[in-house]
Amino acid sequence: MNFMETIVRKIDKHQIDKEIIREAGEILQSGGLVAFPTETVYGLGADALKEEAARKTYEAKGRPSDNPLIVHIADYEDLKKIAVNIPPETDALASHFWPGPLTMIFEKSGQVPYGTTGGLDTVAVRMPRDPIAAELIRAAGGFVSAPSANTSGRPSPTTAEHVREDLDGKIDMILDAGDVDIGLESTILDMTVEPPMILRPGAITPDMFEEVIGPVSIDETILGSESEKPPKAPGMKYRHYAPRAKLVIVDGDLREEILAIRQLAYAAHRKGKEAGIIATGETLQFYKYGVVKNIGTRENEKTIARNLYRVLREFDEEDIDTIYSESFAMQGIGKAIMNRLEKAAGHLRIAAAAVVKEQRYRRIIFVSSTDSARGPMAAEILRHQDLMQEYVIDSMGMVALFPEPANQKAEAIMKSAQMTLKDHFSQQFDGEGIQDDTLVLAVEESQKKKIISEYGNIKNVYTINEFVDDDTEIPNPYGKPLTAYGECYEKLRKLIRKLAEKLNLLAGGEE
Ligand code: AMP
Ligand code: MG
Repeated sequence: MNFMETIVRKIDKHQIDKEIIREAGEILQSGGLVAFPTETVYGLGADALKEEAARKTYEAKGRPSDNPLIVHIADYEDLKKIAVNIPPETDALASHFWPGPLTMIFEKSGQVPYGTTGGLDTVAVRMPRDPIAAELIRAAGGFVSAPSANTSGRPSPTTAEHVREDLDGKIDMILDAGDVDIGLESTILDMTVEPPMILRPGAITPDMFEEVIGPVSIDETILGSESEKPPKAPGMKYRHYAPRAKLVIVDGDLREEILAIRQLAYAAHRKGKEAGIIATGETLQFYKYGVVKNIGTRENEKTIARNLYRVLREFDEEDIDTIYSESFAMQGIGKAIMNRLEKAAGHLRIAAAAVVKEQRYRRIIFVSSTDSARGPMAAEILRHQDLMQEYVIDSMGMVALFPEPANQKAEAIMKSAQMTLKDHFSQQFDGEGIQDDTLVLAVEESQKKKIISEYGNIKNVYTINEFVDDDTEIPNPYGKPLTAYGECYEKLRKLIRKLAEKLNLLAGGEE
């Protein structure tokens, strides 16, 4: 393909520069390609009634030519020029949803070349809501074919910059009006069947159609993974929206999803390779490892729709092999979000519960009497071990009524071993927040007994010795010289190394 200079023109939808529209319209009229904003994603415009313009579109996008284009119009009367046998419900749908993110499929008229429809006898038509798009369509003669303005297979463009990344040097012009509104492609509704059938989910949902024309049907291949049947919209059969890294959807209830993704991200981190994580405003705080991106808020799924493609593209700038994504609710626009995510993932998904089951303990609490020396030392030594899974490691005391810093001799010994307890403050053990995946390790038998008698519901309580099967005593150094703290440290270090080995064995699936 020949390299051409791509002109980029900034344009404001509240104050549209007529001169720019005229220039872009002329390019389209003479068979060129212009990328322009719509409320869904950026489109790659061409004259829909010219066979040759369609060929150029496919070439610029690298798109398979059996994947038909959507014809964009600006005035409802124009529909009759390109479609025939238009069913009566069309008027009601158009008056509710046009201009807007709805594409309808009709039998095509002789005016529409097969190049535009990918060889089909039907034509897909949409009237976009963005005023720049409407003016451009009129300036181009009324019929503009426009697939998404990306390289075929990549995430659709939601900014002019995305268009430039993919198509610079391959198209004549880009109209840059900043970010789009919706961020996902239009809902496609096939009007040639009775009742009409949704071929691609989008911002206009089945309920919204039902209110206007009664129930519609849904192409069952939309969300099914690798169904045998081909989807009815030819474009839906291709892998789409794909980032360069492998994308995996983690599926379960939200708590399990978070735990599973944490575990997977930690495993990647240990191999020296950070994982990508698609998180939401509500869950961001739970991830410690990995390249974490906020895709929006669960309270308003429109924000997620708007950010999805940008986030997928941003991951291409990162040195990662795998991206893990949380799942989203299947209501409203959620269905369209999950449809795009599924396609981007090539239907790769894993059950969060299966991953979570692999980790027996997630939190370890060391319990001593005052939480000022042995407990905090044990916790800090464990934090410095090479652990195969991620744990929240704490220490607490049976009599630690006020938060106090660590014992100074304990700190001196830890310092000489290149560790520190300077951020430690003692905490009282009160049995709260202890779950089945919490492991409570007492430094002495007496604390273990007390916990068992006072908190009968706590499942995993052991002394450190007992848990690692080693009867080395951990003497209380309190009030003794520094050397006693040193001996205590040596004993703890031996036991904690064994503990790390045992945890790693458990992580490897051994009991
Ligand atoms: P895009 O323009 O990138 O949003 O892709 C257009 C989508 O519309 C693709 O999934 C096409 O397969 C679908 N499409 C366009 N025309 C038709 C048609 N006549 N029948 C069924 N699907 C269509
Ligand atoms: Mg597309």
